[in-house]
Amino acid sequence: MLVIDGSQGEGGGQIVRSSIALAMVTGTPVRVEHVRAGRRKPGLMRQHLTALRAAAQLCGASVEGDDIGSTALSFTPGSVKPGIYQFAVGTAGSATLVLQTILPALLIADGPSVVTIEGGTHNPFAPPFDFLQKAFLPLINRMGPRVEVELIRPGFYPAGGGQFIARITPAKQLTPVDFMHRGVLQGKVARAVVANLSGEIASRELKRVKSKLGWSDEELQVREARGSHGPGNILTLEMSYEHVTEVFTGFGEVGRPAEAVANQAIDQYRRYVKSDAFAGEYLTDQLMLPLAIAGGGSFSSTGLSRHATTHLDLIRRFLDVKVNVVAEDRLRHCISFTA
Ligand code: AMP
Repeated sequence: MLVIDGSQGEGGGQIVRSSIALAMVTGTPVRVEHVRAGRRKPGLMRQHLTALRAAAQLCGASVEGDDIGSTALSFTPGSVKPGIYQFAVGTAGSATLVLQTILPALLIADGPSVVTIEGGTHNPFAPPFDFLQKAFLPLINRMGPRVEVELIRPGFYPAGGGQFIARITPAKQLTPVDFMHRGVLQGKVARAVVANLSGEIASRELKRVKSKLGWSDEELQVREARGSHGPGNILTLEMSYEHVTEVFTGFGEVGRPAEAVANQAIDQYRRYVKSDAFAGEYLTDQLMLPLAIAGGGSFSSTGLSRHATTHLDLIRRFLDVKVNVVAEDRLRHCISFTA
């Protein structure tokens, strides 16, 4: 059994989720110790536990340590069974991160799957639904599989209760792809979304985007989200290039001024446009797993976060893949994978 130290590097939930994902894809039994030791509240939280149990259900795995707060777990996978599944986090914990755990195995499973997940869909420190749909999945679809996601209703912290459906048509194997150039900018939009909150918040966020970035009125949109169980607010800055769409998000929370929410997205946007690399911070750590599973391909990145370097170290423990990282300059790194 492969033993993974969950306190290594960044020491967060990604080590747990990717260990499970890689165990399913490679058929390797794994034990993760010191789970989320780098976090203020270590151990499995509701989101990680849901991901672990979802993965176990999908492949008939035997599991130990699947309890809230558990700091060690073992996961012995069986064969992956695609099909129709429904999972619920039960809190506002991130539903998109549950998908992140089970998606790699379903991308190369024997048949299609339809997975409905309930929980948070727009959580800080997790990929918001819009990022999943517009930034991440179109790249996965270029590697052979076909994944479509549909938001049934958004879920924000603390009420949760969001829901989305992922429809996955797998490929026999993932095709290596080179994601090196963004191509020409085709459009951009700032979208301020409010659920059960005053539209004034959205207007203030967009006002900040206009004053700091000079975007035109046509590029600023207010959206009222319907069906949310509680209040919520996000601002996304969506940049559509010929070969990639990047989505930068600011998350509203109680006591946080709308201008600060806007600044969070604006700061990420500014870092990205200073560079000409393909992937921003979050796409960088998320693209590594599919490319490593494909056993080839490459991408350029604005830089490697601690999440990203920790992820690379973990991937190397499971897969016999060579990873080459070249820093062309401070704002452009090239990461390539070879079998
Ligand atoms: P962890 O903190 O270890 O649970 O991992 C968080 C995951 O969420 C990583 O894969 C990040 O790339 C991803 N993530 C966090 N914030 C964002 C964001 N604003 N947009 C897209 N992905 C995000």
